[in-house]
Amino acid sequence: ADQMKLRFFTKISHEFRTPLTLILGPVEKLISELASHPGFTEQALVIQRNTLRLMNLINQFLDLSRLDAGVVKLNISKGDLFKYIHGIVNAYQFISHQKNIEYNFISASDSHICYFDADKIEKILYNLLSNAFKFTPPGGKIDVKVDLLNKEPGNEKEPDTLKITVSDTGKGIPEELLSRIFERFYQVDSKKYYESPGTGIGLALTHDLVSIYRGQIHVESTSGKGSSFIVSLPIDRSSFKEE
Ligand code: ADP
Repeated sequence: ADQMKLRFFTKISHEFRTPLTLILGPVEKLISELASHPGFTEQALVIQRNTLRLMNLINQFLDLSRLDAGVVKLNISKGDLFKYIHGIVNAYQFISHQKNIEYNFISASDSHICYFDADKIEKILYNLLSNAFKFTPPGGKIDVKVDLLNKEPGNEKEPDTLKITVSDTGKGIPEELLSRIFERFYQVDSKKYYESPGTGIGLALTHDLVSIYRGQIHVESTSGKGSSFIVSLPIDRSSFKEE
């Protein structure tokens, strides 16, 4: 049944993505060509933002059904992990200025060559960052901290674990609900839909991706003060023998 669902979703999502792509392209062109036209850019940005949201939503649904059907595998290649993460983090620079949020990238070094699954790390980080920006009010702060660790402290080997911490000074999550936020479609405050639109898919997807990566994710949060999401992923070659 999961295989049939996947075929269905793959077909449907293709039907959605083609027209969405055909909206996004011209909108982008219009934004750059008609930038001087009064009032135009604002309207066009609304179209662009909402089209991107639809695109992201349909991609998330597809990802969920791919996970259910068991076709999602690790896809490991060698590269500069820190440069890669820095690039993803930088993509939110613009929003941080727009929302007046202090935004810091704190990393142990600038560069580290190792084995990783770029697509999964991007999705994991993208979900955590988009939540942090969604639930942190103007004047707040978001930190992304990247560390390399050794599971057995004291040994001189190459680090075997990547730890990413995304902390925000946003609205936080009540303690009694913390255990539920990785469930599908769960939202702490779904009534405020228009204030913070969402589906409750992002963290469920993130959790599943971290599991496939054989990593760990956990959350610490204080209601009204902020949240930290901590992800640990293996990066040593021996963890990816099969892949
Ligand atoms: P969505 O953001 O689409 O609602 P998620 O699965 O990403 O779905 O998140 C589930 C719920 O967890 C959110 O609706 C929100 O209530 C809560 N949440 C997630 N991240 C944060 C955060 N950084 N600060 C406060 N609440 C959060």
